[in-house]
Amino acid sequence: MKEAYQLTKEELAEQYGSLSGHTGTEAEQLLQICGENKIEDSNRKGVIVIFLEQFKDMLVIILIAAAIVSMISENIESSIVIFAVIILNAILGTIQYVRAQKSLDSLKDLSSPRAKVVRNGCVEEIESKRIVPGDLLLLEAGDMVAADGRIIENYSIMVDESSLTGESTPVEKEDIVITGEKTPGDRINMVFSGSLVIYGRAYVMVTATGMKTEMGKIAFLMSNTGDRKTPLQKSLDDFSKKLALLILIISGIVFTLRLVQGEPLLESIMFAVALAVAAIPEALASIVTIVQSMGTRKMVADNAIVKELKAVESLGCVSVICSDKTGTLTQNKMTVTDIYADGDVILPQEADVANPVQKMLFYNAVLNNDSSVEDGKNIGDPTETCLLGYVEKCGINISEIRHMLCRKGEIPFDSNRKLMTTEYEFEGRDVVFTKGATEVILNKITGIATGQGCREITDADVQNIAKINEKFSERGLRVLAFAYKDNPGREILTVDSEAGYIFSGLMAMTDPPRDESVTAVADAADAGIRTVMITGDHKVTATAIAKQVGIFREGDRAVTGEELDRMSDETLNGMLESISVYARVSPENKIRIVDAWQRRGKIVAMTGDGVNDAPALRKADIGIAMGITGTEVSKDAADMILADDNFATIVKAVLYGRNVYRNIINSIQFLLSGNFGAILVVLFCSIAAVGSPFEAVQLLFINLLTDSLPALAIGMEPSDKQLLKDKPRNPDDGILSKYFVRRLVIHGVMIAGVTLTAYFIGTVYGHRMAVTMAFATLTLARLFHGFNCRKENSLLRAGIAKNKWSLVAFAIGVLLLAAVLFVPVFGRLIMVEALKGIQIMWIILLAFIPTFIIQTVRMVKECVMQRKGEKNG
Ligand code: ATP
Repeated sequence: MKEAYQLTKEELAEQYGSLSGHTGTEAEQLLQICGENKIEDSNRKGVIVIFLEQFKDMLVIILIAAAIVSMISENIESSIVIFAVIILNAILGTIQYVRAQKSLDSLKDLSSPRAKVVRNGCVEEIESKRIVPGDLLLLEAGDMVAADGRIIENYSIMVDESSLTGESTPVEKEDIVITGEKTPGDRINMVFSGSLVIYGRAYVMVTATGMKTEMGKIAFLMSNTGDRKTPLQKSLDDFSKKLALLILIISGIVFTLRLVQGEPLLESIMFAVALAVAAIPEALASIVTIVQSMGTRKMVADNAIVKELKAVESLGCVSVICSDKTGTLTQNKMTVTDIYADGDVILPQEADVANPVQKMLFYNAVLNNDSSVEDGKNIGDPTETCLLGYVEKCGINISEIRHMLCRKGEIPFDSNRKLMTTEYEFEGRDVVFTKGATEVILNKITGIATGQGCREITDADVQNIAKINEKFSERGLRVLAFAYKDNPGREILTVDSEAGYIFSGLMAMTDPPRDESVTAVADAADAGIRTVMITGDHKVTATAIAKQVGIFREGDRAVTGEELDRMSDETLNGMLESISVYARVSPENKIRIVDAWQRRGKIVAMTGDGVNDAPALRKADIGIAMGITGTEVSKDAADMILADDNFATIVKAVLYGRNVYRNIINSIQFLLSGNFGAILVVLFCSIAAVGSPFEAVQLLFINLLTDSLPALAIGMEPSDKQLLKDKPRNPDDGILSKYFVRRLVIHGVMIAGVTLTAYFIGTVYGHRMAVTMAFATLTLARLFHGFNCRKENSLLRAGIAKNKWSLVAFAIGVLLLAAVLFVPVFGRLIMVEALKGIQIMWIILLAFIPTFIIQTVRMVKECVMQRKGEKNG
């Protein structure tokens, strides 16, 4: 049987029904039969494997050892509790892993690729997974090929197939029949799923989808699950391993110490185990993942779709944002404001379609244009839809012209060339229309259209056109120049044949800045983030807009791509801080700018929408693609997608990133300071040779239940203005900063102090009561401490009710503690004794002391700062 690439078009039509695509119903039926067009993740783990993997953890192994020791020491109840806790922990770990996977999948769905197919004779955009064999795909520059297919109509399409063949040079495709056997790399009449369209256009008949594509066949070779852990998770894993080792060593020392002091063997082991359990922050890893994935969900609601969790962390460190202008800082809603033709600047309403010069200009704007208006909806590039809308208002019937005149050739728009050229049979002759950046067109014209006919262009004409262009640009207008030429010899259009045009005129369009851009740029500046504009537009237009939104300030510079090309790395480095606008840039320029900032140690976020932006998006620390106007290629390369294409969303996302990181650090601080307090108590009792202050199950109860809730609540602390005032974080700064350790030690010592006091007060009533009081005081003190760790300022400033989760967590924690203390069944399991009123009062009083001291110190500090501020201000 012949392969798709060996078939003639007739054979293809026979095999797939027709060459013009499916109807909607046919496609639906085929989807049921062939399944969705997606590549299954062969590395995906099943739930059982995930569950079993939870027991691989070093810390869990220590806990299992603790349970076994409990059993040997005939403390069966205790070992049951420990086993129950281990299993509960594994179940929670599995649920959390599966949920995190699901939430990543839903993020992936949000950023899932889309494709253009011909259904019922019209081009429709659908999710790529709904493509079926026999669909007719329309591929354009910037698209990602969504299935394998055979070229049916070709307009100079070039494809990057490196993901399949490893060969990075783009391949030119041809609409031919191949005979004989060929490997995928040599099947030049086919395109393959996962490749990128670099240039041109083509209609392609889908021949294979999903796992039947060439990519699907090698899917098992691609380990796409990779390591999904974020840098923070990795450093925490590393930290946990070191901590576990340290704990083992300390526990070993304590065990020996107890033995030397004459304690029985089993009791000494239990003591060492209690210490290990006290020190291990079991909930840490889960809490970090939960907080991060909750952060990404909130970001989606604000139009920022993060593709990987690690991007949330990097977002918090961003110190430079390189942003596009059109559509990101501006509204991408264009209106023609001025026209220049035949030596005059006229207002749009003064246009006259009967004037032969203007007629050529308007026909150029309609024909040399790939956009359309369907059911009142603009489809395509906003610059082009703006031209269509305007010409229609002038009284020209667009659909009639487009229907009558047939496109005979084209060189698609490309932001490097800054031109778009098409050829039509127009008024009985072959005419080539071109439009694009004024300075590019000016280099390609030899004549000018005037009311008296066409004549040779003079230097004075060129200077005049350049002057008008400059005047328009100074007003922040986007200017397009239009030209045409006859092609009597019907030569094939090529980039090299683009010369000898006749100048028709200029059209200037306004694209006002978004209202929120000004505030967002100012907010970014306050947060220590520099915004730089990088645009394909004219330098003067770009500078005017940059001034309006506050990016370009007194003394700043604007540089064009050409000027940048001439600069040495040293010169660029010297001027980098002063350049706030880069205009007429090429994709290579973008990479150089990102690199220059990165070499200064900055963390760079860069936006991009075009087909050639992928390398720059990958080079940036955070590549940002545009959800509405961005190409599939740019979305594939990006770390984050802006669902609304809006610059202000980037600034919001950076704040989210900062908030998520701060909350995670505060959660860790909370967990570790509590554990540190517990270790100190155990260590003290061991050195002082008094009895064990806790039972292992009690510490497990705290670590896994009452401590996890406030830690999660801290992770949900809402963002606040202070985050906007802080400077960007240095990603190389580890978690264990001096400040972090100091706070951890001070808070830990205070918690240990009150717990020990409770223990000694309890000794009066016997060892069991001492243990009960120490346990209850430690639990409650840590629950109170949850409020201290929400923020660095006092609760009075932070607002106690601003984070309602912290109140819920406290309430549940207190209820759990009360259940253990006052319900005898639970009390027996956790090995506590019934408390009396006075003992309860001691517990509450002692547990509150650390929080009281911390809050009082903070309030005094805030008062002093305020006084200072008032004096200075
Ligand atoms: P940004 O990079 O900020 O999005 P941009 O949209 O101006 O800015 P490009 O799309 O690369 O960047 O366009 C570069 C230049 O090419 C424009 O300034 C304009 O002169 C010209 N141009 C833009 N769109 C078209 C088009 N559809 N046809 C012909 N020329 C165009």
